Amino acid sequence: MRRLEGLLKDFSVLPDRSDSRTWVPDPKCGFSVRSYYRSLQANTQEEFPADSVWRSIPPSKVTFTMWAACLLKLPTIDSLKRRGRVLANRCEMCGVTEETCNHLFLHCKVASELWAFVAYSFNISWCIPQSVEQLLFMWPKVKLPAKGRKLWLTIPHAVIWTIWKTRNDVIFKGEIRQFDKIILFFKGLIFHWSRSLDWASRYRFEDFVFSWESLLKSM
Ligand SMILES: [Zn+2]
Repeated sequence: MRRLEGLLKDFSVLPDRSDSRTWVPDPKCGFSVRSYYRSLQANTQEEFPADSVWRSIPPSKVTFTMWAACLLKLPTIDSLKRRGRVLANRCEMCGVTEETCNHLFLHCKVASELWAFVAYSFNISWCIPQSVEQLLFMWPKVKLPAKGRKLWLTIPHAVIWTIWKTRNDVIFKGEIRQFDKIILFFKGLIFHWSRSLDWASRYRFEDFVFSWESLLKSM
């Protein structure tokens, strides 16, 4: 009863009018499938950064990995343990703590170094977000060079894919992670993704690798 009173306290009673029901998504025309569908879409967009996940430039395997990382569905060790696998959980990238999706992509020593490189490149002062989902909500609000913005919006995809590929090579191929190699792979991705953009056609692979900072300054 108290809860009901709380809900009603901001509403005034109009004794000269009859009670009626209102369909909130479309008070004028009432219920329709279209208005219901739109209201569901609006809720979904608030809860999940779909536009930031499904960017058109990265290949679908990368956007799918980003989608899975956002929903904590990638087969990281903590996720495999939740599904019943008996495994010792240790992050193979840093070796100091357990592997979770958000640790691997955001807070691990290797991820922190790559994000520090990104922050330095784009002159960003920020705190690394708590989750990949938060990262995707935040990244479009970061001040990025106007020229090439469509490409720079895919930086989180390039970071996540670089780390995921490196992590898998370390675990399944026994490769040793090297920061120079990680940066080279990251820049190579951005170069390949830039090939569909007109402004980028005058830049060569060497420009992305050896003149990364001056390339960004020219934007
Ligand atoms: Zn780690």
